[in-house]
Amino acid sequence: MTGFDEAYQLILSFAKTGGKESVDLHGAMGRILASAVNADADMPPFDRSAMDGYACRREDLNKKLKVIEEIPAGSPPLKEISEGTCSKIMTGAEIPRGADCVVKVEDSKSLPDYKVEFAVAGNVNNIRRRGEDLSKGDLLIEKGTKLGNQHIGLLAMVGCVDPEVYCQPKVGVLSTGSELVNAVEIPTSSGIRNSNGPQLMSQLKSFGIEAIDLGIVEDDEGSLRSIIESNLNDLDVLLVSGGVSMGDYDFVPGVISDLGFDIKLHKMKVRPGKPLLFAVRDQKFVFGLPGNPVSTLVQFEVIIKPFLLKLMGASRMDGRIKIELGEELMLKSLPLRFFVPVKIESGLAYPLEYHGSGHLASYSRADGILEIPENTSLIKKKELVYVRPL
Ligand code: AMP
Ligand code: MG
Repeated sequence: MTGFDEAYQLILSFAKTGGKESVDLHGAMGRILASAVNADADMPPFDRSAMDGYACRREDLNKKLKVIEEIPAGSPPLKEISEGTCSKIMTGAEIPRGADCVVKVEDSKSLPDYKVEFAVAGNVNNIRRRGEDLSKGDLLIEKGTKLGNQHIGLLAMVGCVDPEVYCQPKVGVLSTGSELVNAVEIPTSSGIRNSNGPQLMSQLKSFGIEAIDLGIVEDDEGSLRSIIESNLNDLDVLLVSGGVSMGDYDFVPGVISDLGFDIKLHKMKVRPGKPLLFAVRDQKFVFGLPGNPVSTLVQFEVIIKPFLLKLMGASRMDGRIKIELGEELMLKSLPLRFFVPVKIESGLAYPLEYHGSGHLASYSRADGILEIPENTSLIKKKELVYVRPL
């Protein structure tokens, strides 16, 4: 049986980035940048005021000054500051020639005849210099960056309104199981609602993949084969939940092999999600996820998501953070990588009650998935652990 790290490396080694396309800024969120973005101009583009106030000469700070002009943001200054004068200036407006500081309005007092005096120390500045943040040509966003809210404004700032991103893989989600009914229906006595399907669709959407929902298929070899076969042409990656283990009705491995896929992995030393299946045919990939809802949730986060991110060209796939455990955790030592739900409070991770891979409700208060190394019997309070935020 393959260890988790080995399985992770093996699976990710198959992910090769595909084509590129341009998107507009509304569609850029969550996409992976395929070419670096550089500053198209100095930023700030001119010396500008950081405050509403008065632009003047530092050596005149103790004097009563004549206000010679008012400079709103977006209007160039017309007059030069000379001895005994200042200009009223708004935040973001260009600094007039001759001025070397701005006194904020709160530190000023208006006097008759358009005069003003200040109550400030001599080290006042409040000028944002041209190029202080960026020089023209500076690298702003690296290739391989997953675009988030923090990048959209930056792209607009430098006029990159059609960033080049990697194409999204086409992903399909198929839920197998004769016991499954669509979640809108009331299950019969031996049935259950399909929770993996909507869950996987949502997990994919959370990083920008609008997957194709192939719905539910019963545990029948012919039906399974026909739905997979008829959809394969349109897909790069197929996620199949259920039917991958050793039961009499677990047809996924056989059907996938019959369709010419090479099964690269079928068992991993993890809990939950041991029977995870990974199969490859040319540049098409099938993941068979054990149907237990927590197995599906966790295996998607710890393996499939990093795989898809790499396929999408991302330079960072591993979303783990290091955090201290809030309370001691005792475990039965097993040669398995163990994943359990945690909540995070005041910067500490606390394991939640967890009954096993069918216990999806244990995740209702979870903020993340705690990763416990193989053969661990004790993690002490305040020990550093890896958590994948959800
Ligand atoms: P399987 O992997 O098909 O043996 O399924 C393992 C367990 O997960 C069984 O109890 C199934 O009823 C349950 N299960 C399988 N698929 C789903 C699904 N789509 N939604 C919720 N539970 C499921
Ligand atoms: Mg099943």
